[in-house]
Amino acid sequence: MKLIILDRDGVINYDSEQFIKSPDEWRPIPGALEAIARLNRWGWQVVVATNQSGVGRGLFDMDTLNTIHDKMVKSLAQAGGRLDAIFYCPHAADSTCDCRKPKPGLLLQISERFNTGLEGVPVVGDSLRDLQAGVAVRGAPFLVLTGKGQKTAEDPALPEGTRIFADLAAVALELAA
Ligand SMILES: [Mg+2]
Ligand SMILES: [Zn+2]
Repeated sequence: MKLIILDRDGVINYDSEQFIKSPDEWRPIPGALEAIARLNRWGWQVVVATNQSGVGRGLFDMDTLNTIHDKMVKSLAQAGGRLDAIFYCPHAADSTCDCRKPKPGLLLQISERFNTGLEGVPVVGDSLRDLQAGVAVRGAPFLVLTGKGQKTAEDPALPEGTRIFADLAAVALELAA
């Protein structure tokens, strides 16, 4: 199975320090939706794993998160793409949950759902914690320079072997060409 795991904010859509709290605030990064569609056409199953601590902080509720994801799914469909699943951690940053990245819980949920190990599976993110979660399950860390990626690229804690791409479109060109 060809499986790829994507962070959401800063990878698929523009990030915001103020959180993405409504469908209006969810705006795709140019080329990102087309990149997912391209991956789909080349046989990749594309799954999102996203920390959404704004839920735990009470900034928005689960209904709102669902409407944001509805917008993402519909926008993606218009670009000819689809996601196989969306996994999220709704817990606050100070929570002791096991699913908030850099903890590997979300990725382990994906492993279970898709009944597959994650060794070598590309785990794409713009933050260190995305890559750390990926490495924890023996995935392949892929850093994109969108979102917080430029800053993350300079972090001395960047996992060894991290591959760096300009954006999700560049990842898709690498994996689906
Ligand atoms: Mg991110
Ligand atoms: Zn969690």
